[in-house]
Amino acid sequence: MDYNNSFKLVNQNILMALESKFKVKIGSEKCKGCGLCVYSCKQGVLEMSKARDTNKEGHNYAKVVNEKDCVSCADCAIVCADGCIEIYRENIKNPLNQAF
Ligand code: SF4
Ligand code: SF4
Repeated sequence: MDYNNSFKLVNQNILMALESKFKVKIGSEKCKGCGLCVYSCKQGVLEMSKARDTNKEGHNYAKVVNEKDCVSCADCAIVCADGCIEIYRENIKNPLNQAF
């Protein structure tokens, strides 16, 4: 096992993680339109769709309007009982998969 190479790859991924932006993904088709995620986001990242803008189930849905201000607190994902929201960093690869 090449430990030097493994550490280099892990360090590269840590640097990439620090430089990458947070991404917020909302499964709008599953959204029930309760608005809790919008209320919970203190950064103003989320907004509900306009009255006539509904998903296939007829619900208004949450959408991302200001992703650059996301601080990845995950409050929105925690309050969503339907599991519609995913928070992640872009460009992240699993360092362990690369290292070995
Ligand atoms: S993770 Fe936090 S800051 Fe980002 S959208 Fe959700 S509640 Fe807002
Ligand atoms: S908390 Fe979930 S179900 Fe409610 S509006 Fe947000 S994404 Fe939709």
